Amino acid sequence: MLESAPAVFPFSAIVGQEEMKLALIAAAVDPTIGGVLVFGDRGTGKSTALRGLAALLPAMRVVVGCRYHCDPDKEAALCSECRERSAAGLLKSRSAPVPVVDMPLGVTEDRVVGALDLERALAHGERAFEPGLLARANRGFLYIDEVNLLEDHLVDLLIDVAASGENLVERDGLSIRHPSRFVLVGSGNPEEGELRPQLLDRFGLSVEVKTPTELDQRVEVIKRRDDFERDKVAFIARWKRHDDNLRRRILAGRKRLSSIETPESVLETAARLCMLLGTDGLRAELTLIRAARSVASYEQAAQVEVSHLRRVAASSLRHRLRRDPLDESGSTARVERAVSEIFGT
Ligand SMILES: [Zn+2]
Repeated sequence: MLESAPAVFPFSAIVGQEEMKLALIAAAVDPTIGGVLVFGDRGTGKSTALRGLAALLPAMRVVVGCRYHCDPDKEAALCSECRERSAAGLLKSRSAPVPVVDMPLGVTEDRVVGALDLERALAHGERAFEPGLLARANRGFLYIDEVNLLEDHLVDLLIDVAASGENLVERDGLSIRHPSRFVLVGSGNPEEGELRPQLLDRFGLSVEVKTPTELDQRVEVIKRRDDFERDKVAFIARWKRHDDNLRRRILAGRKRLSSIETPESVLETAARLCMLLGTDGLRAELTLIRAARSVASYEQAAQVEVSHLRRVAASSLRHRLRRDPLDESGSTARVERAVSEIFGT
């Protein structure tokens, strides 16, 4: 843990919520999966899980003074200011924690994408750029609590930027382009407004979290939370070994991702599952394959197996079914029926 970082509840100490944990890990191994939607009641630890995951990832090397925290080792992805620093031999680096940026409700587009720095414009007559949340989120996570309450055009914009990895700002006489690669994580309460199906489909994975209903699990959740609140340092130290192990597996998973094989039979099974469920377009199949590959890679499997598909089927597909996309129990049950039909029980 970096000294300046606030104490964060360790990811590996989270009780249960296996589907959510697996989805977040899959997105951390392969960010091209395209973000995670987490549906569930308040107080089920949605944001805790994300913060815990970000905190266990290794600190990033960033360019000193760069507002987008460019990676000094990735020449091609440097912002224009860092390219100038590099050309002048002034590229210095420091380490920084992986950012988790919160998207506040009622946020303006200016604050998200960045805008003209009015103070500098008025004081010095300079046309300078004041970076927004998309700059801060670069190389990290962007978290939207209550994504269904955010304006559709903003959600659309965030998904576009997350997919392209670049924020292009053309307004107020500014023309700025800066790197903005992040994993979008949205939480939603299905009872508080719906997300348009077109937007739902653009998220990679969706998971459902519930307050645990089993007594043992509930007691364990409270016990760990209480232990953490009473002595954060000691609690984090106790779970460090588990978090370290998780970090090693995520990093190894990232490394193996480009070399792991996806057999034809797995591709066929994915296609059959999507046909049976009647999902539109190819996004569902692509996500299903990517998520299965990410999990296989994380678990150091020799190749992607049908069993990996099976484990990510619900999270890859439930938000893409045509009817009642937010009826989680309904769509989850439909995916499960199709899964047992294709894979057998
Ligand atoms: Zn830079």
